[in-house]
Amino acid sequence: MADTKLISKIPEGPLAEKWSKRKAEIRIVSPNNKRKLEVIVVGTGLGGASAAASLGELGYNVKIFCISDSPRRAHSIAAQGGINAAKNYQNDNDSIYRLFYDTIKGGDYRSREANVYRLAEVSAAIIDQCVAQGVPFAREYGGYLANRSFGGVQVSRTFYARGQTGQQLLLGAYAALNKEIAAGSVKSYPRHEMLDLVIINGEAKGIIARNLVTGEIERFGAHAVVLATGGYGNAYFLSTNAMNSNGSAAMQAYRKGAFFANPCFAQIHPTCIPVHGDQQCKLTLMSESLRNDGRIWVPNNMEDVIKLRKHEIKPSQIPEERRDYYLERRYPAFGNLVPRDVASRAAKERCDAGYGVNETGLAVFLDFADAIKRLGHQRVEERYGNLFQMYEKITSSSPWEEPMMIYPAIHYTMGGLWVDYDLQTTIPGLYAIGEANFSDHGGNRLGASALMQGLADGYFILPYTIGDYLSHKFAEPKTDTNAPEFAAAEKAVRERIDKIFAVKGTETVDSIHKKLGHIMWEYVGMARNEAGLKKAIEEIGELRKEFWKTVRVPGTNEEFNQELEKALRLVDFFDIGELMARDALNRKESCGGHFREEMQTEEGETKRDDENFMYVGAWEYKGEGVAPELHKEPLKYENIKIATRNYKD
Ligand SMILES: Cc1cc2nc3c(=O)[nH]c(=O)nc-3n(C[C@H](O)[C@H](O)[C@H](O)COP(=O)(O)OP(=O)(O)OC[C@H]3O[C@@H](n4cnc5c(N)ncnc54)[C@H](O)[C@@H]3O)c2cc1C
Repeated sequence: MADTKLISKIPEGPLAEKWSKRKAEIRIVSPNNKRKLEVIVVGTGLGGASAAASLGELGYNVKIFCISDSPRRAHSIAAQGGINAAKNYQNDNDSIYRLFYDTIKGGDYRSREANVYRLAEVSAAIIDQCVAQGVPFAREYGGYLANRSFGGVQVSRTFYARGQTGQQLLLGAYAALNKEIAAGSVKSYPRHEMLDLVIINGEAKGIIARNLVTGEIERFGAHAVVLATGGYGNAYFLSTNAMNSNGSAAMQAYRKGAFFANPCFAQIHPTCIPVHGDQQCKLTLMSESLRNDGRIWVPNNMEDVIKLRKHEIKPSQIPEERRDYYLERRYPAFGNLVPRDVASRAAKERCDAGYGVNETGLAVFLDFADAIKRLGHQRVEERYGNLFQMYEKITSSSPWEEPMMIYPAIHYTMGGLWVDYDLQTTIPGLYAIGEANFSDHGGNRLGASALMQGLADGYFILPYTIGDYLSHKFAEPKTDTNAPEFAAAEKAVRERIDKIFAVKGTETVDSIHKKLGHIMWEYVGMARNEAGLKKAIEEIGELRKEFWKTVRVPGTNEEFNQELEKALRLVDFFDIGELMARDALNRKESCGGHFREEMQTEEGETKRDDENFMYVGAWEYKGEGVAPELHKEPLKYENIKIATRNYKD
């Protein structure tokens, strides 16, 4: 029976007509009424910036918030490899359906058909929009936009701007946003961190934010709130995410009634620079685009492995017959371009078997020697020059001479706030877009599809769907921030801050966060099992207690205080980590990045349980110290044949 609290609002009718049908049904707010309506957008990454620019251009009054000193410094700027779109510029038989199919299959049949189809449908318009904004996508000699391939697909549909696609897309969105800021339709609040969501009569009506420079706690009201606050991968401490990426806004919403969907679906990216010490606070991604031409291998014999670890030989001295190109061997049809979860597990399998190529045994090679021979130095430089440079700067080893060393790391979170087809959470008036929602990627996100989703949400979906909600609101007066609900939320925030300062312990926030990271990586990482997940829940509980006894946050609230910021976020990471472990414990199947050791094939591949787990798991907060309640949104596949994922033939 359908859960009465999860109404996904997926339109009836044929798949290809659902979005058009929904758009036709959506009530429109007239221009003069838009002027009366206020919308808060939290986050200025590709999701938030594109949404705020679009809403501002439509005529709404928008307030936009971000942690960084400028909206253009959001984490999206780090995206390297590219953005997918079903343009079929390569004439390689790409189509909306194929992008839809690849994404559902890539997500291991755990995402909604209707949402994914809509994403594929609007993908082409994103590229047109960005080109019109002047985003300098790579081009072929004849002037067409160039494409490359990403994992899990057999066509080339990824548009890119060297290894800086996110930065260029964000500059485009930021320019559009600035136009609105200059016009007065968007007011920007950089260095403002949302610390609570305000609900009045069951609807989202505003936020409490801390001015990160002065420490002032401020109230902001609106007719609707949009969260575009990114993913929660930093629960693992070490990840490829920006240091400021966090899951706090999502947790604030969760505690106020927004359901949190599929929290255990976290993506581990196969090509990151391996961990190289205890003092590290960040991991560096080497873009998936490198797998277009780079070949992944380890030696096929222990003698070479031992010599490599002792630095007695260089990788380039190992002849072809003593190499194991294990992805090409195991997955001939996709080779080095298998999806991320598959490539990550295969690297772990080789390293667990003892073939890891660095001192810690936790690294494999990504080799460009063949590509340099085939394409020449200049072509390789054009495609990957800045990535090679970055690798060399960090490791002091040149990929032109010796292969890169890589290892999987936490990169992206597919889970997030549950949203319906309109991207509305279970709280009326609260929307979630971009990485902050759970919507489109199921158990594993395909490369280059996060940028696509963020911009689809922000430019082409939310600006329409939010109108349906706001069309009932224009007669309502502006939200009064003197309402008792604002006062109560502000008081709770102040008390939380005071409580943190009052601990006056001896441990730094980072040292405790690192411990959380170890628990998460060990028990809620690439391989999970029942005993480990139970242990994780227990250990996170203990660590939370330790935090409240031992943490030391220097300084005061009334100043720029990054230790305080980190401490507030860490409190939420405890809850996120616990929720992830709880969800992973419940999901007794392997799918995508969620690998339950108890559920694997003889070849070590994921084994789904479609009979019992073909649903979105959405968790409802039930109070501090009380177990959350699981709600299930069944997934129906009417347009795609459910199958075991196969990348072999
Ligand atoms: C190294 C790297 C490379 C990647 N490369 C690619 C790629 O090539 N292709 C691809 O498709 N995807 C890629 N991804 C994934 C992709 O970049 C992200 O999923 C995407 O950019 C997220 O965008 P977003 O708008 O949802 O959130 P973000 O860009 O994370 O922005 C979040 C925003 O929310 C703000 N914020 C957060 N919390 C608060 C708060 N409490 N109060 C106020 N503001 C807040 C932040 O300041 C920020 O402005 C990559 C990711 C990484 C880490």
